[in-house]
Amino acid sequence: MMLAGISPTVIVKNFNDRGILTPLAYIHSKGRHTIRKDGFEKLYWSTKTIYDIVQNETYTGAVVSLKSMVDRQTGGHHKIDRSEWVVVPGMHEPIVSKEEYDTVQKRITKRNISPSKYSIPLYCGICGKKLVRPKRGDRYCQRGKLVKNTECEGVKIKESDVAEAVLNELKKRLQDIVKEASKVLSKMDKGISSKSQIKAVESSLVAAEQAKKMLFERLVDRMIDREDFIRRKAEYDKEIEALKNELSDLKIIGESEEECEVKIREKNEEANFFMGMSKMTDEMWDRFVKKVLVFSDKRIEIVWNFDDEK
Ligand SMILES: [Zn+2]
Repeated sequence: MMLAGISPTVIVKNFNDRGILTPLAYIHSKGRHTIRKDGFEKLYWSTKTIYDIVQNETYTGAVVSLKSMVDRQTGGHHKIDRSEWVVVPGMHEPIVSKEEYDTVQKRITKRNISPSKYSIPLYCGICGKKLVRPKRGDRYCQRGKLVKNTECEGVKIKESDVAEAVLNELKKRLQDIVKEASKVLSKMDKGISSKSQIKAVESSLVAAEQAKKMLFERLVDRMIDREDFIRRKAEYDKEIEALKNELSDLKIIGESEEECEVKIREKNEEANFFMGMSKMTDEMWDRFVKKVLVFSDKRIEIVWNFDDEK
């Protein structure tokens, strides 16, 4: 529709009128898990959703992200928490061809309706000042303009160049996350987890309790004497106690393992999603990049948010 030159507002209205489900509502309708729990009927297509979609080359084959919605009651837009973005991996054949995608990008640029006013967090690597963002041209360090013969003078760079470099680096990092996650997950699948151990300990416990019971029966039947019984009963009690302790430890580990697995799966899914991005979106800057330091030779140093997570 964007190709046909129809405005995003018309497209969005059309989608909403025809009751076409938003990506999140669609997933929910298929009975698949989403982080959002309710209020699916309130989900609406917004122009932002459309921009996000058409500006994302990912749609030439893979996924959907939902970053804002219109509230049916208030009619206002609201930003959706990152955790609620929607990923629909491997769902479909390409929605748009590369040619169609390029045509729409050109049209958006021509109409000059790029929705992004995001200021990339660029800082001077020498003095630490945030780089000035002129309407046109390179970002630069103001100190370099105001103070002569400082290294800051050479600190200038195109935002697009930084974005490209950051995206490349980000993809490497995401790839590492995916690699690590699949390693851990396959280990879990192989059952090198506490689940199998719990089963083993549980059956040992049943066996020990059974043996203790039989010991008492043997005493009743006078097959063993009282002294023998007391000694061996104490042994069984000790063993049962130890098994019970082991079992409760294993259960605690099992719970945290499960929690951990969920987290890893989420991380993995997220990394896979962002790896498919063809450009840095505002949200990606926000989520992954703390700041970028720029040095005089156009060298940059990226400070990631990843580093805080550890
Ligand atoms: Zn500077």
